[in-house]
Amino acid sequence: MLLVGNGILITRDAANPGYRNGCVAMDGSVVAEVGETCAIRAKYPGARFLDARGGIIMPGFINAHTHCYSAFARGFAGKGPAGGNFSEVLERLWWRLDKALTLDDVYICAVVCMIDCVRNGTTTILDHHASPRAVRGSLFKIADAARATGIRSCLCYEVSDRDGEETMREGIDENVEFIRRVSSDEDDLLAGTFGLHASMTLSDATLEACAKAAPEGCGFHAHVAEGIRDEYDSVKKYGKRVVERFRDFGMLGGRSIAVHCVHIDENERKILKDTGAAVVFNPESNMGNAVGCGPALEMYGAGIPVGLGTDGFISDMPRSLHMANALLKHNARRPDAAFAEVTGMLFENNARIAERYFRLPLGRLAPGYSADAVVCDYLSPTELSGANADAHILFGMSGRCVTSTIARGRVLMEDRRLAGPDEAEAFAKAAEASKKLWERF
Ligand SMILES: [Zn+2]
Repeated sequence: MLLVGNGILITRDAANPGYRNGCVAMDGSVVAEVGETCAIRAKYPGARFLDARGGIIMPGFINAHTHCYSAFARGFAGKGPAGGNFSEVLERLWWRLDKALTLDDVYICAVVCMIDCVRNGTTTILDHHASPRAVRGSLFKIADAARATGIRSCLCYEVSDRDGEETMREGIDENVEFIRRVSSDEDDLLAGTFGLHASMTLSDATLEACAKAAPEGCGFHAHVAEGIRDEYDSVKKYGKRVVERFRDFGMLGGRSIAVHCVHIDENERKILKDTGAAVVFNPESNMGNAVGCGPALEMYGAGIPVGLGTDGFISDMPRSLHMANALLKHNARRPDAAFAEVTGMLFENNARIAERYFRLPLGRLAPGYSADAVVCDYLSPTELSGANADAHILFGMSGRCVTSTIARGRVLMEDRRLAGPDEAEAFAKAAEASKKLWERF
């Protein structure tokens, strides 16, 4: 039994929202109960006690869309001029960088990315991977990193036609093999879904092959209408819009994720809603790639499960929350917009989306939920209560406030000391490997 207590406890459980001096009792990988620290400690006198020292205890963060392989892009100046639009960014940076990845690089990227997750209190990620010159075994390398660091990971390989037929086939096989291998993961650490890059890099023949090969009910994870070119391409080549296209191949449903959806129209929104597919909003990525701001508020309001991701830019979910709030307010020209929606995306919808792939329910500190928690060091200049806690998180915290991270009942970091792989060694290896990758880019 592990107790995490002596802090302000935010449970995210509507029936029992929090305690001024609260404690979570974790029995293995599951939350057993929550209550006042003194009562819980008295009930479990022999249990290990992790002292929050008056900080904030809350559920671990979930990143609903990321790319671990982007770790090697940080600080890279590129070769030649930077992309002047989103298509050029893909062609000049990402599609050259991912081609330079080896299987060893895939593992090293994933380890440093996941250490960053532990540091920022992100306990679950939904990753979307590409390494066209090292497809086979790549998801298993990321899975090794998940086992080493303890980050719960739902993985997929992004199938695409951009590197030819053979690589496309390898991508299909990698998805199928990984999904089959982790389909009954008793540890609740790994899950798989079927990855697709984007409509504009997938022919009808390829989509048909993917739909045919995908194991029953696995769900698909695809970029959808991120740039306007994706919609133009779909209408021009196939006479229908991107969401209609994925629907027609049976790729939308309650276990599928349509990432971005910046340029979808009202009918596409309706299709997403009818099929139960989730959407992931990635504010920093959308701003950084200058693709525009999608109808995230409208989709959220229509009852589509819209979650929050970082698209590989960061692993810091409070920072992503700040960006989501500012971008959606700015875009709506409404200072009173977005607050409820962005906190709903991060704290509620990300859990509902991620738990579609895992055994235990996520995102609450309540009995029966997965034992994923963070302790944050946060000194409030104003009163903090259950009613305004989200505003404190939004305006006062970042991932680096996290001092302790617990996932599946295992302590991954305590008082900023990591329990997993040696951090300095992992980052030194990454620096060395990324330097070589930059040279062959
Ligand atoms: Zn992405």
